[in-house]
Amino acid sequence: MSHPFAIMVHDDNMVAQQFGELGDYPSSFCCLAVADTGAALKHSRAGGAVVSHRYRLYPTTSQMAVLHNHCRDARFVWNLALEQMNLWSTGRTPADMRSWDRQLADARQAFSWLASGSSSVQQGALRDLRQSFRNWWSRPDHFGRPTWRKQRINEGFVVRDLTVNVLNRQWAAVLVPKAGLVRFRLSRPLPDNVRSARVTYDRAGRWHVSILAPQTAVERTRTGYEAGIDLGVASSVATSNGNVARMPKLLSPGQVQRKRRLQRRLTRQQPGSNRRQRTKTAIARLSALEADRRKNWIEQVTTDLVRSFDLIVIENLNVRGMTRSARGTVSSPGRNVAQKRGLNRAILAQAWGLFRRRLTDKATSAGVELIAVNPAYTSQRCHKCGHTASESRKSQAVFHCINCDYWAHADVNAACNILAAGRAVAGPGGTSHAVPAKRPDETSTNPEAA
Ligand SMILES: [Zn+2]
Repeated sequence: MSHPFAIMVHDDNMVAQQFGELGDYPSSFCCLAVADTGAALKHSRAGGAVVSHRYRLYPTTSQMAVLHNHCRDARFVWNLALEQMNLWSTGRTPADMRSWDRQLADARQAFSWLASGSSSVQQGALRDLRQSFRNWWSRPDHFGRPTWRKQRINEGFVVRDLTVNVLNRQWAAVLVPKAGLVRFRLSRPLPDNVRSARVTYDRAGRWHVSILAPQTAVERTRTGYEAGIDLGVASSVATSNGNVARMPKLLSPGQVQRKRRLQRRLTRQQPGSNRRQRTKTAIARLSALEADRRKNWIEQVTTDLVRSFDLIVIENLNVRGMTRSARGTVSSPGRNVAQKRGLNRAILAQAWGLFRRRLTDKATSAGVELIAVNPAYTSQRCHKCGHTASESRKSQAVFHCINCDYWAHADVNAACNILAAGRAVAGPGGTSHAVPAKRPDETSTNPEAA
């Protein structure tokens, strides 16, 4: 197979304003990473959040082959166009959609294997990539730069002009180009006014269809209560009224053991072998289970918070910054010390990122005021007397003021400080907008383009 990149060369005469007129295509895989149990989210341009409703897809064996081909085509076209975007240097304008479509048509004429695939799926990949770039340009703090799609890791494609037939109470079917109607399980009601969907194949060997729809508002009545929230490193959410919600154990002891055993087995297996692939799939199944449970818990806790409080104050943490420092680029560059702890921290940072997005999302749709404040010293300051000392924080869990002898759960004390800071911002005539602030130990994570 020769490389049709020559056909998809960069055209200098493109106009940049083409970017920005795109409809509601699903966003990039960086967003897909959280796509699960209704938890994926992006913000529509109107400001309201759009969530993805995910359903398990059950293709027949022959349909599966078609879907795999669609994945391959979408990945190929995405990577090709990404290569072109990466060649685009500052000062030049990026390719517009019409030119991409034209280049794709040319490529389809030149390569029969590409022509045998669905042009709708291939065009979908181009729109998808453009949307990812738009997301990244508009919110570089939130979205990552679009990256290469890899085989077995980023398997998926977009279905446009969505047709969904409800078969009965449990089953529905989605029309996929060249595959016909593919059945999926209606694990939740179908959203209204759906226009596009994404079909994905995960590392655990499962097919899903994710349908985008606006976030439905959490039903609530005014409670008159306010809360500050501290997201702890011990996987817990502490509120200023003294509640601490812990993330439950995500795997049973047996499952943890099995995962460890599989991981050990993996290191002994030959790279590229079928056995190794089977072990990988088994590990991926357990990881998917873990991720599903983590997301479910986040859904429950965020809904709970939005129902309980009229005003919620959170820390204005730079979650992406946290992830980076966990990788060792900030605190200890180039060292392998505490790699595992770093990994756990990265997973937790990712979970808190999702937590904050879902909370923001639900608060916005339910009319709950949400304020983000500078978290500096909230964990070291005594909520009772205001004295700030790092010695007052005795341990992960205990705060004991060296000035006034006040004892408290460390995270609850921090949550109280966060609420106080939020009230100061929200006070009479105050604004309710987030205060941009960073911890001193955090570095800027804006991409080069910023
Ligand atoms: Zn004190």
